[in-house]
Amino acid sequence: MKNYLLFTVFVALISLFSCGGNGTESDDQKDSVFVKPPNIEYGFNLDSFQVIRDTVQPEWTMSHMLAPYGVSQVNINLAAQLATDSTVGLKYVKEGVPFIILSEIGDTSQKAIYCIYPKNIVEFIVFDFRGDSVVVEKREKETSVAEKILSGEIIKNSNLTFALDQQLEDINMTGEMAEFIAGVFAWTIDFFKLHPGDEFKVIYSEKSVEGTPFSVGDIKAAWFKHQDKEFFAFRYVIDSAAKKIGYFDTAGKEMKRPFLMSPVKYSRISSGFTMNRFHPVQKRWKAHLGTDYAAPHGTPILATANGTVIAATYAGGNGNYVKIQHNETYATQYLHMSGFAPGIKKGVYVKQGDVIGYVGSTGLATGPHVCYRFWKNGEQIDHRAEKFPESVPMVDSLLPDYLEYIKPIKAQIDSMPITRYIITGDEPVEEEVEQ
Ligand SMILES: [Zn+2]
Repeated sequence: MKNYLLFTVFVALISLFSCGGNGTESDDQKDSVFVKPPNIEYGFNLDSFQVIRDTVQPEWTMSHMLAPYGVSQVNINLAAQLATDSTVGLKYVKEGVPFIILSEIGDTSQKAIYCIYPKNIVEFIVFDFRGDSVVVEKREKETSVAEKILSGEIIKNSNLTFALDQQLEDINMTGEMAEFIAGVFAWTIDFFKLHPGDEFKVIYSEKSVEGTPFSVGDIKAAWFKHQDKEFFAFRYVIDSAAKKIGYFDTAGKEMKRPFLMSPVKYSRISSGFTMNRFHPVQKRWKAHLGTDYAAPHGTPILATANGTVIAATYAGGNGNYVKIQHNETYATQYLHMSGFAPGIKKGVYVKQGDVIGYVGSTGLATGPHVCYRFWKNGEQIDHRAEKFPESVPMVDSLLPDYLEYIKPIKAQIDSMPITRYIITGDEPVEEEVEQ
């Protein structure tokens, strides 16, 4: 038991999307004789068989599973061999898996006609022993897809996974959803710096089998409010034949945003990234772990991607510099500024193209330039040699259609309330077990 409650408003909302069928019965139906529906499982009518339910024990092989039910060693070997086929993909049976033996009604020897072994929540394997030989087949349970919504907030001492875990039944689905949200907003929000009060909403499809949700399907749209700034992402098919699908913001800009190629608009590279150059000021050979862009004093320096300013300060050879953390992988740094742009300080969120400072020659510099340093996983790299995530840009001709398409979806997101949690105590903790 966890010591929190969900507001019932969420439950009410979900039921809006899941209601179906009509609530009234006709008189004919009321008077009709009650007929017991057939007992169908794994596509078999269990009423036609003697049903034996068993479970794979530790160290069991297929022999342990099938020999007690009259399957000959020859057929067991054949079944085991057929099961390893790539279309079936069962190399060995797993401890704890419940399987079903179907035999003839009244057969006291319980000789197996079929054995049904579930491979996972959707797939199952049917061993057919009706003939002289053995047939092994992988089959799937019928799955259904329904549109769902969810929303939540980041609370103190918590994270996105916790917030999602409150609403998704299945731990795999929490993982899938967290991965999606962090992925689609990776170029917009630093998920290591979420704040209490950050909020999110998602419209997605949920895959179910026999009424049990087991997987997140397509995510139609997502919204994230980070430090009181709103970010939208809409799934849109750019080219259905080529299966080009992207996520775009309210203006049709792709969410997976590549970096600007340079932090100054009009400039030339005066010194590239190299492990070995003759330093013009220090007069010695050393590595140059950045790219120098020469530009007139005072030229605006732009943030090359969205991110959070983690430093805006003066430090020796770097002079005035700004460093921006973009996501868990990338950070950029801009050296030798003459000064910072208004409002640029540690903790401020900047968008791609925002002016963060001005070209100068503070620190160790011979002339006005910006030394642009690119960090990947804490190491400086040559950004011009780095491969970034593949981009699916919006073609101008699609933009009107896109903007029309997202209108009702955005309206739906705008009207969705945030699901709140009631937490007892300062932080989400597991309830103590009573002694
Ligand atoms: Zn430099």
